[in-house]
Amino acid sequence: MNEQISFIVEIQNIDMELLKFEELLKKTFNEIEDSQNNLKSKELELERLKEELREVNKKIGCSELDIKSYEDKIIKMKDTQKLIKTNKEYNAIQKSIKDNEALKKKSEDEQLAYMEDKETINGKITLIQKEIQELAYELSVKNAEYKKNEREFEAVKKDFLDKREFTKNKIKKDYIDIYEAVKKNKGFPAIATVMQSGACTGCYRMLPPQQFNELISENVFMQCPVCSRILYIDTTLSASASSAGKVSEKLNKNKI
Ligand SMILES: [Zn+2]
Repeated sequence: MNEQISFIVEIQNIDMELLKFEELLKKTFNEIEDSQNNLKSKELELERLKEELREVNKKIGCSELDIKSYEDKIIKMKDTQKLIKTNKEYNAIQKSIKDNEALKKKSEDEQLAYMEDKETINGKITLIQKEIQELAYELSVKNAEYKKNEREFEAVKKDFLDKREFTKNKIKKDYIDIYEAVKKNKGFPAIATVMQSGACTGCYRMLPPQQFNELISENVFMQCPVCSRILYIDTTLSASASSAGKVSEKLNKNKI
């Protein structure tokens, strides 16, 4: 393979490795953000339920007072009734007792309904508290994972960037500029292999035969006429592996 081309391939491999790390970090970061939002909305829901519980407790308290006051009235009226002489008065008090008993019954029914509401709300609160606990745990696991990935990335990043700089310095400026421009516009691959059929693996269009033949000669720097990607023929995988080996060998020597 043309040496310049092999260096560009090497640069692309480094860039793709760096991107892989960045994407992994971004993915975990997004998951953390989602979990945080989820947790926040559950906490808001819990606050709302607690407020609802306070309201229903107030209503239960009020109906208790109502029931008590009806009971007191009934007792008093029953006491008064004992001292009454006329039928008319007796009947009037009897009616009042019945009315208050009906009101008391109504308040008791309301209280019962409030108690049921309270039970439902308490059930929801227990459930949401459990969900919050689980989400908080999940979040702490994700945060730890993010920090671990970040540390790993920091540990290898410098090495990758040093290798990149070392390789980049061996590539003609025009070529590296083209590589960077294509990478920016098209993403990966910025340097693409050409299939045996003569198709660019970046856009899958066929190269004109003349151009394909030139490329086979291996001594040309060529871009795809359709997608602008830098083209090369990956003659054998072992050839590219050995050229990568050479680069890392040199890198190691350079380090020493
Ligand atoms: Zn193409």
